[in-house]
Amino acid sequence: MGLSDIQNRVEKEALRVGRDPETVQLIAVSKVQPNARVEMVLQQGQRVFGENRVQEAAGKWPAFKEVYAGVELHLIGPMQSNKVRQAMELFDVIHTVDRPKIAQTIARIKDETGSCPRLYIQVNTGAEPQKAGVLPDEADAFIKMCTELSLPIEGLMCIPPSDQDASTHFALLADIAKRNGLEGLSMGMSGDFEQAIAHGATYVRVGSAIFGERTYEVT
Ligand SMILES: *Cc1c(COP(=O)(O)O)cnc(C)c1O
Repeated sequence: MGLSDIQNRVEKEALRVGRDPETVQLIAVSKVQPNARVEMVLQQGQRVFGENRVQEAAGKWPAFKEVYAGVELHLIGPMQSNKVRQAMELFDVIHTVDRPKIAQTIARIKDETGSCPRLYIQVNTGAEPQKAGVLPDEADAFIKMCTELSLPIEGLMCIPPSDQDASTHFALLADIAKRNGLEGLSMGMSGDFEQAIAHGATYVRVGSAIFGERTYEVT
């Protein structure tokens, strides 16, 4: 448990599977964690953080950013279209581009402001009805649409079904990325980040294993 332990495990797994550890970035998922815990991890030198709600991130990160230089913020939760502008201002990377309307809204704001976060497309690899993301069958067409909108798509993201072996889903995501020429793979959480690294993850998103259990449920 804790940041340095997770950093060590990330490095060790990367080396074990013959990858350069520098190619795996650790996102510390700070959603709903008390500010004191987040600050502790900032003081240990971590600068890459993930949040799953625009509103929560807007309330907590501007103040931290004034004190700690070089913070990079990642949006890893679903985005409503009326929050896109705010999300694009606040986040360096958005992992949850998941439908045409969101892609079109991002493209419009990008054209208007001349700037855009790096983007990941979320794929619903388990085709779970309650989960966000494009279906695996629709991924190629959606990636093509985003490319035609000139969006800076860096890779794909998934959250495997909690009751299944994550490896199959990581392999599927890696496959879709590869055939579409995308290099970024945002996959792996506290319970399965090592498996994700073995399947090529370039970003792992780890929350509770760094910060401790979240003290209240995320809705
Ligand atoms: C909360 C969350 C994580 C981190 O989950 P842990 O199990 O606490 O590591 C990773 N990815 C997404 C999309 C999340 O919402």
